[in-house]
Parts: sequence; C-alpha cells; structure tokens
Amino acid sequence: MGAIPTQTIEQIAAANDIVEVIGSYFPLRRAGTNFKALCPFHQEKTPSFHVNPQRQTFHCFGCGVGGTVFRFVMDYEHIDFPAAVHKLGARVGITVVEERRSGGNEDRQREIRRTLLQLHSEAAEWFHDNLLKKDIAAAARDYLKQRGIDRTVAKSWQLGYAPAGWDAFLNWALQRGYQRRELLQSGLVKLRDESKSQGDVYDRFRDRLMFPIRNDVGEVIAFSGRILEKDAEAAKYINSPETSLFRKGHVLFGLDKTKRALIDANSAIVCEGQLDLIALFEAGITNVVAPQGTAFTEQQARVLSRFVREVVLCFDADAAGKKAAERSLEALLQNDLIVRVAEIPAGEDPDSLIRKHGREEFEARIAAARDFFDYWIEGEAKVVDLSSLGQKMELARSLAGTVSHVRDPLMRGEVVRKVTARLGVPVSEFESLLPKAVRSSPESRPVARSAGVLPGHDVAMLCLLALRNEEAAQYLREQNWRETLAETANTDLLGKILESDVRPSDPASLNAFMVTLTPAEESLVSAWLMQKAPEDAAAVAEKWWLGLRQAVVRRHLAIAQSRIKGAQLSTGEIVNLQKQILDLTDQLHDLSQFSSAPPSEA
Ligand SMILES: [Zn+2]
Repeated sequence: MGAIPTQTIEQIAAANDIVEVIGSYFPLRRAGTNFKALCPFHQEKTPSFHVNPQRQTFHCFGCGVGGTVFRFVMDYEHIDFPAAVHKLGARVGITVVEERRSGGNEDRQREIRRTLLQLHSEAAEWFHDNLLKKDIAAAARDYLKQRGIDRTVAKSWQLGYAPAGWDAFLNWALQRGYQRRELLQSGLVKLRDESKSQGDVYDRFRDRLMFPIRNDVGEVIAFSGRILEKDAEAAKYINSPETSLFRKGHVLFGLDKTKRALIDANSAIVCEGQLDLIALFEAGITNVVAPQGTAFTEQQARVLSRFVREVVLCFDADAAGKKAAERSLEALLQNDLIVRVAEIPAGEDPDSLIRKHGREEFEARIAAARDFFDYWIEGEAKVVDLSSLGQKMELARSLAGTVSHVRDPLMRGEVVRKVTARLGVPVSEFESLLPKAVRSSPESRPVARSAGVLPGHDVAMLCLLALRNEEAAQYLREQNWRETLAETANTDLLGKILESDVRPSDPASLNAFMVTLTPAEESLVSAWLMQKAPEDAAAVAEKWWLGLRQAVVRRHLAIAQSRIKGAQLSTGEIVNLQKQILDLTDQLHDLSQFSSAPPSEA
C-alpha cells in the first residue's frame, strides 16, 4: 500500500457515494439519517448493518465489520485494497496512476493477472460465439437441446463450444495478439512435451461444451469442458489447471449468481455438476452451489459459511455421490454448518429429477432432507447389526470421530444427543469416545474483529472527538500530545489521528485516512462514526484530555513519592525529589481546577 496517492483515494472516495455503491449490491432501507440492511457478512434476522451517508462509512453492530467504501468492496468481493481502488475508480471514470515503487514485482503480478482475466473473458466470448453461430457446433447445440437447455439459458451462463482439432483456440488467441507464454500461463493450451518448458503447444479443450467458471465477482477465471459423446473414453469433464487466477479448491461454481439467494434462504443446496446447478437455477431454485470437483474443501466450506448456516447435499444416489457426501462432511462440520442430505432416487440426478417431476417435487425432497447423522446411521444400520453390542460400539466409535469435527459446542451437544438416541447408547459412554481436545480453530471463524491493542475508554473518547469535530481535533493537536501519549497505554490510534491531516467534516478525507488503518482499527472507527458526537465537542475533548494528563502526572508523582522513601539517597537527590513532588502536586492541582473529568485510574 502507499503506492496509490492519497489525493487519488480522496477523489475516488468523493465520487463514489457509499449508499449507491452498497445499494448496487443489495437493497438498503432508509432508517432516520442512516440506511440499514441485513448484514452480508454474518447471518442475521434483523438488520444491524448500517450505512452512514454523511460520513460515507458503514458498520455492522452484529459482527463488527465496518469502514470505508473501499473496505466494503474489499470484504464483499474478497479483493485487496489496490483492486478495490481500481474498481471504484473505474466506476466513476477516474484512472488510478500508481506511484513507482522500488520493487516492480507486484506491478508485474497485477499486470499478468489483468492480461489473464482479459484472455479468459475474450475466450469465453469466443467459445460462446462458436456455440451459438458456428456449423462446427451443431452437435453441441443438439446435445444441449436434448438436455433441455435453450438459447436463453445458454446465453445467461455464457456456455460455449471448443472446436475439435488441436489448434483452433491457439490460432485464434495468437491472432488476437496473445503471447504463447500467456496462453500457457492460462492453462488453455498445453505443452506437447510437458517435461519441457518450451516447445509445441496445443488446445487443452477440444470438442467440448464449455462452462466458464467465475469467481464470486463474476470474472471468468477458468473453464470446465464437458465431453459430448456418451461413451467416449476421455474424461467426462476436464477443468482448467490451477493458475494464478484459479485455485480449484477455493471456487464454488455459480456463487456469483446465487450469492444473494443463499443469504436470503440461509441454506445452500449443493449439487455435483454444473448442469445440475443450471437446471435447478433455471427452474427457480436459486440458492445452489457446486464445488469444483466432487468433495468440499475446507476453503469452499469456509466461503459458504459466510452466506449460510445450513447445507443440503444433493449428490447422485450412486456410490460415488455417497462417497463425495461423506468426504465433504468434515470440512462442512468444521465450519459449523448444519448438514442435511437429500434423497435422490438411484439413476437420477438433480437435473433429471427436476425435469421429470418439476420444481415442487424437488423442493419437497429438499424440505424432507434428513440430518446427515440420521442418514448415515440409517445407512450403516443396514449393514451393521445394532442388536450386537460389539458392532454397535464399533459404529459409535466411527461416528464419534465424525462428531468430533463439529466445533460449535452447542451444536455438538445437539448432535451427540441425536446420535446416542438413535443408537441407544448412553450419552456419557458416547462422549468418552470423543477425542479429548475436540478441535477448535478460531482463525477459521469469519470476521469478528475486536481484539488487539485497542484504546481504553478515555483514549477512545478522544479519538471519537478528534474524528468528529474540527475544533476538538485542533485543540488536541495544539497540546503537547506526543509526550502524553508516549506515557499512556494503547494510544496508537489516537496518535495516528493527531498526526494525520484528516478533516472531520470532509467524508472523503475521513475515507482516505481510514484506509491507512488496520482492519480492527477501521472497524472501531466506523462504529464511532455511527455515534452522535456531543454538541460542545471541543470542551468535552479538553475535559478528557486534562483527565489523561492528570493520570500521567499522578503516575509521576507516585514514582517520586515511592523513590523518596527509599534508602541510600544523597541529600542532593532528596532535595531534587522534594522539588519534583512539589512541582507535580502543583501541576495536578492546576489540572484538576480546569477539569472535572472523572479521575482515571493511574
Ligand atoms: Zn455483520
């Protein structure tokens, strides 16, 4: 950071009204002078997410996130600060010119990313154009028709077709001016001899139906290609390899389109394939996601837990689907997600099911989906003889291993209750099977930023006043504040405020100041900015400041007084200390004359 001039940040902040920006992601409702909404960063039933148009900041009183318009875009879109600045700059037509830095590596990385994003976006268009218009895609169009996917749906998901042959894509991309090196980096072409870093290259995707894979902001970052022929020997699906854009285990297919529906439903239907997801979505069931690959990764589960509390697994009824469900479980439980399993009849998948029987029947299946543990016990009970104590305890032991992944103690208690009732074993006996230290990993919990070295009440009050009132800030800057702050605990933030030239009455200046803070500080400041400032802010600031000074003087006095009681002092030292004590007592007397602030504990 620091490479983008403060002036540019202020300009961009001034031109992007935070109410408009946030309002473009989800609806905001006016509440007095502020705007409110259900928080997109945690689950809630009543809105505690506030947007303040006067100060151009937001804050959620439920989970504590808050800050500037930049912070919102960073957190909502999971992008870094420079990317948020560029995005908001582009929104209002301001070009961001970054100052030169010593290391050009970061710039180069960003440049590569930009090129790869552009390549993916153009490639998606080209594949799409092939599918809709070219003769070579006739078979692909037939296939889609037979799967019940019409032109409108194909357009809305930007489905495409990668021609057969070895170099159709390669030639197109070279003609567009892309370098061979860039094409290799994108994974869209492969080296004929992968043991070398140079040589002949050819198209990775050939004669396949193409699904663009997007990140949750909607940028194409990879592709998944499905084979058209039924009994071909090649893999049914192939995906782009891991690239600097695409980390397979982090992406959930469809999330860019289904995010809002997930939050509204507080529940995610998880299906295996892209076609399943599209069929459900187009039938009006929109709270769906599909992991890339078959089982959930820890990262995917974590992403999902930001949007929903519950997951309904909707995998194929075959053995592979069951395996995938079981392998997904651990990651989901670790993120405190409630897991249910929908019954899919053998030989069907969500796609075929919804086409044959319609939306209502499918929704009934989702509603009837059973808790994962019930589903599992039932499945096991078919092969395990529950009347045999030995076999029952064997099953209990393997269930205990799974239960131990549930981190939330309340939820774990609930699950233990259910499992023991179903198995008919005493709770205490089952609990003795659980590993002693049941895992807890606080770092995987979303948001909740508070801890850290944050100011105490009196310092916080001064921060608030300095950020809200020109005069108060002026008064404090005129004091000998560096010296006092150096002797008071947790004053980093107040120091940053007084050192800056932040102008409290100018929201753009507030925003530009806040982007220099740590996320914890920024969320704290955003909370203060939501509060009412006292009318006579400068007078109140003076009162609190004198209180802070008093505390410092009192501490000095206590030190001098304890020292003078000590042995082995020379007469000179004693006289000096006596002078010091008199002086400090005078100072304290003066300070308390001006201030009626409550004495703060020294
Ligand atoms: Zn929140």
